[in-house]
Amino acid sequence: MTPSDAPVLEVRDVVKTYGGVHALRNVSLQLLPGEVHCLAGENGSGKSTLIKIISGVEKPDSGTVAIDGQVHAHLTPNDAIHSGVQVIYQDFSLFPNLTAAENIAMLSELAQGRKISSRRRISAEARRVVADLGLRLDLEADVIDLPVADRQLIAICRALVNDAKVLIMDEPTTALTHTEVDRLFTVVRRLQVRGVAVMFVSHKLDEVLRISQRVTVLRNGELVESGPASDHTARSIAKAMTGREVSEERLVSDVAPDAPILLQVENLSRAGGFTDVSFALRAGEILGITGLLGSGRSEIAEAIFGIHPADSGTIRVGGKVRRIRSIRDAVSAGIGYVPEDRLTQGLFLDVSIADNLIASSLDSYRTRTGLLDRRRVRDSITDLFRRLRIQAPNVGAVVRSLSGGNAQRVVIAKWLDRKPKVLILNGPTVGVDVGSKEQIIGILREQAAAGVGVVVISDDIPELVTSCHRVLVVHEGRVVAELSGDQVDAHEIERRMAA
Ligand code: ADP
Ligand code: MG
Repeated sequence: MTPSDAPVLEVRDVVKTYGGVHALRNVSLQLLPGEVHCLAGENGSGKSTLIKIISGVEKPDSGTVAIDGQVHAHLTPNDAIHSGVQVIYQDFSLFPNLTAAENIAMLSELAQGRKISSRRRISAEARRVVADLGLRLDLEADVIDLPVADRQLIAICRALVNDAKVLIMDEPTTALTHTEVDRLFTVVRRLQVRGVAVMFVSHKLDEVLRISQRVTVLRNGELVESGPASDHTARSIAKAMTGREVSEERLVSDVAPDAPILLQVENLSRAGGFTDVSFALRAGEILGITGLLGSGRSEIAEAIFGIHPADSGTIRVGGKVRRIRSIRDAVSAGIGYVPEDRLTQGLFLDVSIADNLIASSLDSYRTRTGLLDRRRVRDSITDLFRRLRIQAPNVGAVVRSLSGGNAQRVVIAKWLDRKPKVLILNGPTVGVDVGSKEQIIGILREQAAAGVGVVVISDDIPELVTSCHRVLVVHEGRVVAELSGDQVDAHEIERRMAA
């Protein structure tokens, strides 16, 4: 179905302030039936506020929301739901201890005011929607036992049971593998055919362009761009988001051919994880390791860093064989690791930036007599804070208050303070906005230029292409390709990942 002309949703001149902060300034936007509309913008640009206004959760200071032609000056969450607006938040808001079927159909069953809710009716209703979308889901399983991708589909099915005309999804692809993204997109296309308008918030610009017909970009609460997706490239959207030209080209300088090998891994294996992995990393080099979720890419990093040590094989750091059985072994060998889940593994959330930065390197600040050299500690913290452009009022700010990009900088800074020979980063820019992403990649380049060997574990293909000298592709625990020079190309990487 091609989008018809009467908008199912129309936001007009919406202004929203919080205290003195303008979260939205005169934003107007239309959503057509059967359209996939991407809402892009850096962190803090106003995306969530706009979604809250559309769903009646927040009231605008001025401006209106019209659904199906009906103007609401004071839209309530109930009005929004009854008019067919459904939002799927990142946590999906499902009941973990109910079955998939119950999550899909129970609320609507209750809403129909029946005194007794029938298991049979719930199951039948859930089966109907699932079949309608051409999905296969274990409807009798408890949601808690199902993978993330299935939970998301359950949330979509629930929205459909509730007669969604407008479905809004916040960062729907963040936790998905490529195959799962494909499956989600297939479902989204089916929704389109039924005339549902889908709006999705995403940082992954290449994905956005695969599925959207229209793109709207917010910057500092202002709508800076709204038009056909076909007028855009990932680069032009990034530019609209940041207001700056954002580079997408390969920006890798050559590694000196005689640069010393800092890390050499030979025949590394771990049962159930990966098999016979070998590679070398030179000083000044950024090496990408990629593969689908579950391919073993993270397990390789975790073995080198001693989190889950390898069963066999050798690891040399700076030419010396190192037996890495624990994180401590890895750290003393000169290896640093920025984990994928930095908020739970990499940082003390309720402690200041300053304390986080030096927590793991305190010993190096002791004088010969064992006292802490406070001045050197202070200088070092100030230096890291500035060098990594951490955006916070000061170094005393608690880490929990930082945005994703800034928290990530704190973890990286923490490691830089230990001056590692080899720095391994797992998903360094996951959940980070475009501007921060660019800066984080810039920091990695600086480190490489200063002689550190950098390993980036990532499935963000554009990021690998821009920043890596070489890319290893892992499939089912084995390195199936080693790409360098011109071979480091998005299509080639994608092809090998799926192989
Ligand atoms: P995004 O979802 O694009 O990251 P938000 O809509 O969450 O952006 O935020 C837009 C701006 O409004 C930010 O400056 C944010 O700090 C501010 N803001 C959002 N919600 C609140 C709130 N409840 N109280 C105060 N400020 C808020
Ligand atoms: Mg948000």
